Amino acid sequence: MAENVLERMSRIGADRKIADFKVKQKENYDFKVNYARIRAWEFYNECAKRDLNVHVSVGGLDSITLLLFLRSIGIDAPGISVSYLEDKSIMAVHKKLGVVSLKPANKADGVPWKKSEILQEFGFPVLSKEIAGKIETLQHPTGKNKTVRHAIITGETGAYGGYQKNSRMKMSQKWLEKFGGYENENEGVNYGTPNFKVSSKCCYYLKEKPCDDWAKEHNSVPYLGLMASEGGRRAKSLMINGCNYFGKSTIRSAPFAIFNRQDILQLALDLNVPVPEIYGTIERKEDGTLYTTKAQRTGCSMCGFGIHMEKRPHRFDLLKERNPKEWEYWMYNCCTDENGEKYGWARVLDYIGVGY
Ligand code: SF4
Repeated sequence: MAENVLERMSRIGADRKIADFKVKQKENYDFKVNYARIRAWEFYNECAKRDLNVHVSVGGLDSITLLLFLRSIGIDAPGISVSYLEDKSIMAVHKKLGVVSLKPANKADGVPWKKSEILQEFGFPVLSKEIAGKIETLQHPTGKNKTVRHAIITGETGAYGGYQKNSRMKMSQKWLEKFGGYENENEGVNYGTPNFKVSSKCCYYLKEKPCDDWAKEHNSVPYLGLMASEGGRRAKSLMINGCNYFGKSTIRSAPFAIFNRQDILQLALDLNVPVPEIYGTIERKEDGTLYTTKAQRTGCSMCGFGIHMEKRPHRFDLLKERNPKEWEYWMYNCCTDENGEKYGWARVLDYIGVGY
């Protein structure tokens, strides 16, 4: 019988790897920067042996710092980005640094997707990429994803998941109450269903696919500015797979994997990185902690990932201040439902209990 998830974790020594990784995360700044330099060169040399080119996937401050860090150690990898999704001040820095600007993926008619079309066609990116993916699975039941749907509602996995009872596949009770209703009949539960679609495809069509397509075309693999300390879906795989990963379908380097926010800000200062205006400037508090005076993190302004955990004024509030017209469009008019009624993020935020 095929190996299940738990057996795989034990075979690859996942616990040991995670423990080793955590030790490195506690090292000092100089150690980490040196470690990043060694890993970045290791990746570069291994790619050269495999006849692969390298590039940097660039977005906000972290990956801008990565691009300049690589340049500073003699790795002149081209930067690529779907810049138009970023804030104007980030776009300006991309331009200054010669980052290649990509368009979103094309629709079947050959025209690039617009964000509103993605929301309309696939649904809203809300809560987190992981939760949105689960809700999307529930909204699109097939014979093939039956076991997964069962696991999302109950936490019980099948053979591949090692017959676990309380696996992480289960959606949290809070969101099951709101989004689990698609399985009411199958599972004998009584959960709610929203009157909008949810999806994690937005990132895929607007960001990931264009970068993947570019990479294929250029026979190139990426350096990414990911840090495990930022948490999220990829933190665990960064800990298990380490900075450089040469898998069957994925090859990537994340030289900053063991960094934390302080390390990246210190490196940005040391390298004289042009800080996009949206972040303000990098300053030091009395206790020595570095911070950016304006935005701490950036991303698309109208994205629902993480919105339920943000304090007010949250990112939608900030857009309202900056550009009330754009805000109104995304809140009330970007989509049309089956009754011909215009709607937008307001419907989604009302449903998940986020004020605006
Ligand atoms: S960050 Fe959010 S809004 Fe931006 S592409 Fe990804 S899902 Fe879409």
